[in-house]
Amino acid sequence: MKRLVILGGGESGVGTALLGKAKGYDVFVSDKGKIKEKYRNVLLNNEIEFEDEQHTETKILNADIVMKSPGIPDKVALVKQIREAGIKVVSEIEFASNYTDATLVAITGSNGKTTTATLTHHVLKQELGVGLAGNIGDSFAKQILEKDHDNYVLEVSSFQLDDIHDFKPKIAVLTNITPDHLDRYDYKFENYIASKFRIVKNQTENDYFIYDADDVVIMDWLQNNQIQSKKLPFSLTREIEEGTYYKDNKIIITIDNNKIIMPTENIALEGKHNVKNAMAASTVAHLLKIRKQTIRESLENFQGVEHRLEQVLKINKVQYINDSKATNVNATYFALESMDAPTVWIVGGVDKGNDYKELFQFVNEKVKAIICLGVDNKKLIEAFGNMVDVIVETQYMSEAVKIAYKVAEAGDNVLLSPACASFDLFENYEDRGRQFKDAVRNL
Ligand code: ADP
Repeated sequence: MKRLVILGGGESGVGTALLGKAKGYDVFVSDKGKIKEKYRNVLLNNEIEFEDEQHTETKILNADIVMKSPGIPDKVALVKQIREAGIKVVSEIEFASNYTDATLVAITGSNGKTTTATLTHHVLKQELGVGLAGNIGDSFAKQILEKDHDNYVLEVSSFQLDDIHDFKPKIAVLTNITPDHLDRYDYKFENYIASKFRIVKNQTENDYFIYDADDVVIMDWLQNNQIQSKKLPFSLTREIEEGTYYKDNKIIITIDNNKIIMPTENIALEGKHNVKNAMAASTVAHLLKIRKQTIRESLENFQGVEHRLEQVLKINKVQYINDSKATNVNATYFALESMDAPTVWIVGGVDKGNDYKELFQFVNEKVKAIICLGVDNKKLIEAFGNMVDVIVETQYMSEAVKIAYKVAEAGDNVLLSPACASFDLFENYEDRGRQFKDAVRNL
């Protein structure tokens, strides 16, 4: 019996444990932190051996294969030991994809993964059997075990890609690449870029690669590296012969001389970045032969994903918008760009080495007041202090929202788009977004 050791007892770890057990592995789950009640019960009910708040080396270094949860960095001593012992380390998508024949659509990028994956799933599910997995919802492994679908849309992070060997999506999507998570890549942007491009590494000429042709990082890499896949670029700025572009409010997709044109006036998602996401999703849909009418209707009735430019409420003609998921400057860039009214901007948190220059133009143009919501707001005040009349600090969401309420006038927007991680004041970005929405509803 082969021994499968799983590091990390979360959604992907426990899903892999269940699948591994069903496939005849001797499974052991080990988590340095505390395993949540919900997952602990699944492991107990399925008689899967596990430990938490410790790693027992003797029970780990005898593995044939290790599934490492994407949250665990490579620099952890135990992971180094495992690799030095020559044990194969895989990610969940790598392990699980061995046990399905489904058509895989894998979506990666620095921003827009969840939105694009959710939207793609929403379009495909109108006509196909399709699961949504990866970093979203139920794990891929568990879905394969419980109800294998014919197709999967997978949201794939760079950490998942770091430990693939044979993972081969039929369709790979790369939304964009901007510096993020560099602490996990030796502070080298090129390492992070290489990690993202692993998504095409096992693709052949029968597979497809859909990517943002306006992204200079992506285009540079493609100029200097060969890939096997059929390329389907998308662009907001120029016409594309084979692939997808946007012109006069229409998305135009051409694949193998088969062209479809879709009006976008009525799509619910706002902002240019969401036109890109819609182009990516509809290109996938066209490839998988979804009818044009269906694609168009699904783009129109897709309401977006919570915490991503989510319209919360309108109070006294002021629109409150929750973009808590904007944890880096690039995401906030697109949020500010899409603002069509004077904006009171709530920003701040844990700065991951942000360069705020990119935002200056929009802040000058659109932002009338800034509310800094973080433990340390020095950098924000230095960057934007001279640009707006009102800049204040607080460490409470309820207070931030109350100040915004006082400052905003009819016709304005109040935007929470922090450009920073949330861990200084909140549990995670969801908690931050929920607190924002609660505070708005309590006004
Ligand atoms: P991810 O899953 O990659 O983190 P999300 O879809 O959750 O991406 O969006 C994260 C943030 O980035 C949100 O603030 C969202 O408004 C913004 N965003 C969404 N799509 C894009 C895009 N194509 N380019 C840049 N920013 C985007």
